[in-house]
Amino acid sequence: MKNRKPTLLQKLINFTTAYIKYAFSGFKEVDVDTYMKRLDICLNCDHLATLNECAVCGCPVFDKAKMETEKCPLNKWGEIPVTESNMEPEETIEPKNKW
Ligand code: SF4
Repeated sequence: MKNRKPTLLQKLINFTTAYIKYAFSGFKEVDVDTYMKRLDICLNCDHLATLNECAVCGCPVFDKAKMETEKCPLNKWGEIPVTESNMEPEETIEPKNKW
């Protein structure tokens, strides 16, 4: 079966949906290390189209890769790793010298 590229309307729907999820998460982004790993996978992917668009979903990979709520449509990024922003907060450390 041949892969069909998304239409302009489908690209718009896909990226708008991704952006809404990202906004509802409070604009949570992955850490720099995860972002660079995701980008490296995308930039070496057979499905990278012109203008750095993913040919499967039509999203711009430089934007999509930073969104913590996003996944590669072919699951090439693997699982979303635990980052500082989605870890449970640790106990609060009180300053030792109180005035
Ligand atoms: S999101 Fe996935 S399928 Fe799309 S370009 Fe990146 S690695 Fe390839």
